[in-house]
Amino acid sequence: MTEHPSAQYDLIVIGGNPAGLSLAWAAQRAGVERVAVLSRGESVIGKDLIGRHRVEVHYQADVRRIGRIDEDRLFVETDHITLQASAVVVSQRVGITRADPPFAIDPVVADRVHGVYGTIESDDSWARGDDDILVVGEGESAATAAISLAELGAGVVLALPNEGVTFLSRWARDELQWLESQRRITVLWRSMPDEIGELGGLPMAYFPDRRTPDLQFDHVVLAYHPVAVDDPLEALAIDIDEAAGDRLGFLVEAATTEPEPVSRIGITAAVGNAWNRIQPHFFPDHDVRIEQVTTWVGGDEIAGLRDTHYNATITAFDPHHSDLWVLRVKPDHGDASHMPGQYATLGLGHWEPRIDNVREEVSEKRRTALIRRSYSISNPIFDEHGYLFDRSESHELEFYIVLVRPEGDRIPSLTPRLALKTPGERIYLGAKVAGRYTLEKNTDPDATMLFLSTGTGEA
Ligand SMILES: Cc1cc2nc3c(=O)[nH]c(=O)nc-3n(C[C@H](O)[C@H](O)[C@H](O)COP(=O)(O)OP(=O)(O)OC[C@H]3O[C@@H](n4cnc5c(N)ncnc54)[C@H](O)[C@@H]3O)c2cc1C
Repeated sequence: MTEHPSAQYDLIVIGGNPAGLSLAWAAQRAGVERVAVLSRGESVIGKDLIGRHRVEVHYQADVRRIGRIDEDRLFVETDHITLQASAVVVSQRVGITRADPPFAIDPVVADRVHGVYGTIESDDSWARGDDDILVVGEGESAATAAISLAELGAGVVLALPNEGVTFLSRWARDELQWLESQRRITVLWRSMPDEIGELGGLPMAYFPDRRTPDLQFDHVVLAYHPVAVDDPLEALAIDIDEAAGDRLGFLVEAATTEPEPVSRIGITAAVGNAWNRIQPHFFPDHDVRIEQVTTWVGGDEIAGLRDTHYNATITAFDPHHSDLWVLRVKPDHGDASHMPGQYATLGLGHWEPRIDNVREEVSEKRRTALIRRSYSISNPIFDEHGYLFDRSESHELEFYIVLVRPEGDRIPSLTPRLALKTPGERIYLGAKVAGRYTLEKNTDPDATMLFLSTGTGEA
């Protein structure tokens, strides 16, 4: 190594992937001044974000060795430079699963199904800008593949089976949210096809959950996921001095905030919670929470809140499109009488999970409160024989509901929670139906009527 490495940093992150960039960005936001990212490649994903946040990236930096200078400093030796830092965090994926996908693939479309790892470049022979592409996989790998395809101009649907809101790096979450707001990616949270079939020579994805319709694509991408290996440091081929361990961190992709520690490493953190884990160890003076994991209310409390607030059962949830569903609701008191043109109130608690995983600022008081919204009742007015329904016989209410997606600072409250509901689940239904825009007063069949449509729809 160089005797006195000239460039000095507070934090060096090894790995220009979304997890590494997220950590660098979070550290800067928390006031850590000198932060550098070392990337093996010639570019990193999300270049515009690096510029905007002034993240310093050294490209083509192949790290060979990490060692100790003195009590407070490590050195990082690459194939062409040596740098020093008070803490070093390794964000490099090691070990990749190539397990068979958990669904059948029609052999006719096998050449349109691609196993990938990491970003997808324009010179991948099958990747075309204007294609519709389904990306299936876990966490960071799938998000990275989807983001790079959207940047190439493809229309991307990303199916992520994961449960938690914390498994993705901050960078990947923000990128996905931004690309969604631009309508360039649709994220299907907690969703996984159970079959890739064939229709007209193209892959057709069939989803077992009721809220996702069957969809046709030009290509399907299976994003491989890294697996834990016995000795990740050895797998990385970086020579790490024994004495450097306590100033070293390691990021792993895990759907938990407490991943298995890696031996000889001071602190191991999950990518979704990286800064919060790293900060107390290496930067105790920068106690700023950037990626706070929000646990609002526990499971038992949720069950109690649902019992207290909900008074109706969802009997049908039929998606006509991923963003438009027909919902049927049966009130506990059994009376769903109403007039065509009226509307009712539906509600769910702030404690319910969201399909888009957007984190909202919710005050302590509102966490256990209901979100209520009005919905036009859309029960058919004729029965199957063409006769008018007898309203007094009505025991259920039907609604057409549009999923509202977040845009910028505008974060919708109810519909992203409704999107995760299935028949049999409970909901709040307002005690009264309302609305005076009905046909009741117009009994003259020869009357001329002028219909006006409003923003809330014509029921
Ligand atoms: C009388 C009445 C009848 C209604 N009937 C229906 C109905 O039949 N079906 C239905 O889906 N909605 C209906 N709405 C709208 C509904 O009450 C909610 O506003 C809507 O579902 C969004 O709720 P949210 O909590 O997800 O978003 P919110 O937190 O309420 O809204 C966030 C933002 O999204 C905007 N927004 C609301 N709806 C849409 C939309 N469709 N597209 C884009 N942006 C939107 C709001 O203006 C607001 O700026 C009706 C509203 C009224 C007042």
